[in-house]
Amino acid sequence: MEKFGLAVPVNDTEHEAPPGHPENAARLSSALRTLNQPEMQEWFVPLPTSTCHPQILERVHDETYLGLLKRLEEQGGGQVDPDTYLTETSFSAALNMAGTVVAAVERAFDDGPGISLVLGRPPGHHASSDRGMGFCLINNVAVAAQYALDRGYASRVAIVDFDVHHGNGTQDIFYERGEVLYISSHQYPFYPGTGAADEIGRGEGEGATLNLPLSAGSGNDEFLRRFHSEADERLKRFAPRLLLVSAGFDGHRLDPLGGLALTGRAFAALGRMLRGIAAASASDRMVTVLEGGYSQEGNLDSIVSYIKGLRA
Ligand SMILES: [Zn+2]
Repeated sequence: MEKFGLAVPVNDTEHEAPPGHPENAARLSSALRTLNQPEMQEWFVPLPTSTCHPQILERVHDETYLGLLKRLEEQGGGQVDPDTYLTETSFSAALNMAGTVVAAVERAFDDGPGISLVLGRPPGHHASSDRGMGFCLINNVAVAAQYALDRGYASRVAIVDFDVHHGNGTQDIFYERGEVLYISSHQYPFYPGTGAADEIGRGEGEGATLNLPLSAGSGNDEFLRRFHSEADERLKRFAPRLLLVSAGFDGHRLDPLGGLALTGRAFAALGRMLRGIAAASASDRMVTVLEGGYSQEGNLDSIVSYIKGLRA
């Protein structure tokens, strides 16, 4: 049985959330405990975590913005927006998360494993090149996509984002670029307000952004129908050489923030579909990166279902 890579750049004492904040280490504890059980450990090769080199980071993020994060961390913490906190270890945690995703991509093109998951925090898809927001500091997936292009690993990278919120940061970073296909399903209208169906990219990027806005309460069948009828065909036509997945599990029906009413069945079916795309065009190179998901029980159901879908 093939094994997937699993990296867990998360630590209870790093980037520790203010009391009551939904983006906290505890949101992952049930899922990580389950994945650590001996029968599930046989599914994985543990991947080491590593920090992100500034030169790699600066290909996506503005130096002034990175300077602000560093300064806030040195000052012992602060807010980059009303929702988004930094502690005295947050910038290091964010660098570790981004660097681990980059390392997983590197491994996918080197000696494997080709399929891996990075289940850490802070999340990234709301961060644009010069602004953090929505609990996100560094756009982990964007940094990894740019790295794969820069290294010549892949000429075309697809990013599929199924977090309940639109990944405005990722869309913005690649909006005028044709070599990165960005596909997002999300509740709409909803935070952060972007992600309408007519946002399709601009210039060379026209047609390389596909938004699949979903009404609150859509449920599994509508969610999967949109992926099968719209995303699948677009992905097959684009034929990515690397597939990155912004995996937010806040569309689960137990999630306190999202309202899409999904269950584990949706994440299993999506995992299976995405694995099929990676196998068909990307030589089975696919890195899944955690974004949102704020219910412990919801994350456990979603993450385990998604991984079973990848294996099916
Ligand atoms: Zn989210």
